[in-house]
Amino acid sequence: MVKESSSATRLGQALLFAGLVVLVALGGCKVRGSQGVQSEPRTVHARGQRWELNATSTRSQLPGRPLPPQPQHGLVTLSFDDGYSNVYDTAFPIMREYGLVGTANVVWDYVEGWDPNYMHREQLVALQSAGWEIASHSVSHSRPLTEMSLSEAEYELTESAKDLRALGFDVTDFVAPYDAWNADLARTASNCYRSVAAGGDCLNAYPPADLFTLKRVGVYSFTPLTSVYKFVNEAERGNQWLILMFHSVADRKSVMMVPSARFRELVEYLHSRQVEVVTQREAVQLAEGLRKQVVAQEPAVVRR
Ligand SMILES: [Zn+2]
Repeated sequence: MVKESSSATRLGQALLFAGLVVLVALGGCKVRGSQGVQSEPRTVHARGQRWELNATSTRSQLPGRPLPPQPQHGLVTLSFDDGYSNVYDTAFPIMREYGLVGTANVVWDYVEGWDPNYMHREQLVALQSAGWEIASHSVSHSRPLTEMSLSEAEYELTESAKDLRALGFDVTDFVAPYDAWNADLARTASNCYRSVAAGGDCLNAYPPADLFTLKRVGVYSFTPLTSVYKFVNEAERGNQWLILMFHSVADRKSVMMVPSARFRELVEYLHSRQVEVVTQREAVQLAEGLRKQVVAQEPAVVRR
């Protein structure tokens, strides 16, 4: 009896230890599919409302605008890097006039910093509430992740997601700083994101073959709108996905700043076309839905 009791105690201790290991693992970067596992209720701001998520809530239960039907005429995503405050002040109101939303790729250190040139928590909450996506663009943006050790890069990837989620942002996607990316980073990122965008200057096939190396096309102060329209038309014609990358929308002379009048012209053009303007997350959700359908439609292997 004594022997049985002590092995029962050992079993209990082992189970307790295993449980603790699982809890510690979940406390770090969350694996796809386990998002939303929280030990305490928390408040999330989305769609203009506050939502209390309890211990069993998942991110998929968050309110969101209904996804458009599977695209027939291509997708366009407006993606804004680094979290400049002119995105909130200038790009956001212009896009709102036409009912369009975008993806703001923010750097954790800037969100928590003092610099008024960058959006802080309140502006980002307002964007998310209006249907924008908040994506991670690393912790520090100090240098390309490809020039860091894997453990440093892993920290930039996982901590930024963890910290932004702790503030109530529904972060599911990553954008690589300096467009520097490789296969090792993609593997690491797949543990805590659903997609990663990283350079390329070309369109994405739809659905994309690799969600962890999505391509974007940069738009700068010197980029003629005609060349952007060419990409838009190509996406529309071939039912492809175009991610347009911006930094700033502002009327100052800098390579990174797209003048507000030109930005408005582009938004008007997109509004007039048949392409769907979606966030990176929405395009990924649509692509994942399509992939599931394709798998479901595949004929079962007949064994003879
Ligand atoms: Zn950047």
